[in-house]
Amino acid sequence: MTAKPTSAPPRPGGLLTLGPDGPGEAPRAAASTPRSPAPRPLLVDLALAAVAVGFGLSVGIALTATSHQQLAAPGGVALFLGNVTGLAGTYLALVMVLLISRIPFVERVLGQDTLLRWHRRLAPWPISLIIAHVVILTIGYAQAARTGILHEIGPLVNGFPDMGIATAGFVLMVAVSIASLYPIRRRIKRENWWGLHLFMYLALALAFAHEIVLGPSFVGHPMTQLVWSVAWAATAGLVLTYRVGLPIVRSIRHGLVIEEIRPEGPGVVTVILRGRHLERLAVSGGQFFEWRFLARGMWWQAHPFSISARPQPPYLRLTVKCVGDFTTALARLPVGTRVALEGPYGTFTTHALRTRKVALIAGGIGVTSVRSLLEDLPKGTRPVVVLRASSEEELILREEIAELVKWHGGRLHEIVGPRTAQPVEHLAELIGDLKKRDTYVSGSESFVMSVTRLLALLKVPQEAVHADVYAM
Ligand SMILES: Cc1cc2nc3c(=O)[nH]c(=O)nc-3n(C[C@H](O)[C@H](O)[C@H](O)COP(=O)(O)OP(=O)(O)OC[C@H]3O[C@@H](n4cnc5c(N)ncnc54)[C@H](O)[C@@H]3O)c2cc1C
Repeated sequence: MTAKPTSAPPRPGGLLTLGPDGPGEAPRAAASTPRSPAPRPLLVDLALAAVAVGFGLSVGIALTATSHQQLAAPGGVALFLGNVTGLAGTYLALVMVLLISRIPFVERVLGQDTLLRWHRRLAPWPISLIIAHVVILTIGYAQAARTGILHEIGPLVNGFPDMGIATAGFVLMVAVSIASLYPIRRRIKRENWWGLHLFMYLALALAFAHEIVLGPSFVGHPMTQLVWSVAWAATAGLVLTYRVGLPIVRSIRHGLVIEEIRPEGPGVVTVILRGRHLERLAVSGGQFFEWRFLARGMWWQAHPFSISARPQPPYLRLTVKCVGDFTTALARLPVGTRVALEGPYGTFTTHALRTRKVALIAGGIGVTSVRSLLEDLPKGTRPVVVLRASSEEELILREEIAELVKWHGGRLHEIVGPRTAQPVEHLAELIGDLKKRDTYVSGSESFVMSVTRLLALLKVPQEAVHADVYAM
């Protein structure tokens, strides 16, 4: 029988452990399971170019759909602008959906954090354009009918096919957008907000039919109708495949269950999962999964946790700090609880390496991704590893890290105490040649931000800084 992974120090030459097997040998776990495929930036560049061309075409078909006579007629300019804003807005909404559809080759290059950031930055544009579309078109129809704007709303909603349903979609879209405004969103529990956010998919689906049936760019243009419909169907297909289908298939294939939960430090537990075919699960050290624990009250939420060791079939390991409802409940789950997973995600891997000199800096629980990344580092990188925690007991996984650092011939520094007593500026002295290294930083948002700011001040090139922020 295979030995269960331990959170004790890896013993060189011992039974299967989570660390190196002996001097000069690659860590056994790293050798036995595949890593996630290398990123292909060219493919992503092509995809981004295609998206930009798509935007140009969408605006183009809107601009050419109105004749001079139509423009000159009462309300003509407003109807034209309403059409342009509508098409531009819905196209950008489609791009927003694509950004979070978890397409693997895109995730591998840009990472979920960047994609989410782009998704959030883009968000005000489609919703503003769609609101403008509704307002401007109402003005246009009122001018054409020589009536008041408010008076025109009823005939507009009731007098055209699919307009009732599109109006419901619009109201839903505005409601979800208001809930997404930061001052409101931060008052809603993350999982509730996420559930609410799903209604945006419904809103977009409800609005689709009226575009095809009423849009001047589509009426009488079967080819344009076809291309637009295929683009939307393909986007829906990608979301269903990568956010629903693939996670279900992967979860069934691996059949993960909790094998053991053991304390790792104050308020921190290590969760050991047992599963099938883990030798086929391609995941790199430093990556994370979205985990779903199939227990009452928890199954509907997926939370991100990094692997704290590379898979060691039939085991997989994560280490969790109890910070809220979900993580506290997780620590109390019984052995045998089934676990579904989505991923792996994340660019905090050796694929990001540019040099053979590495610094790894972990704040608090950020140590988990650094721990698994250490297993993947090529021999000869001699990493300088800095662990930062408020107290000695919070330096979790420290023995395993020490063993791996020793195996790599690197240096380990442990910084303990309040942040004010140990400012990040100290890191520069400790590590020394930061400008010549790839620096990986992981932990809370404030910790990662403070370190990356320091690195920027020290003129460390941006491409050499790889961050893993434990918040989204
Ligand atoms: C890429 C990544 C890797 C992570 N790896 C680990 C890890 O290895 N070990 C570990 O202990 N923690 C890790 N985290 C953090 C972990 O996901 C959250 O602590 C956890 O989801 C909190 O859930 P909760 O309901 O217990 O707490 P809550 O009360 O919901 O929240 C407590 C804090 O966690 C944040 N948070 C809550 N839910 C999420 C979520 N779904 N995504 C991101 N942040 C959230 C909140 O913003 C808040 O600051 C990681 C986060 C990310 C983004």
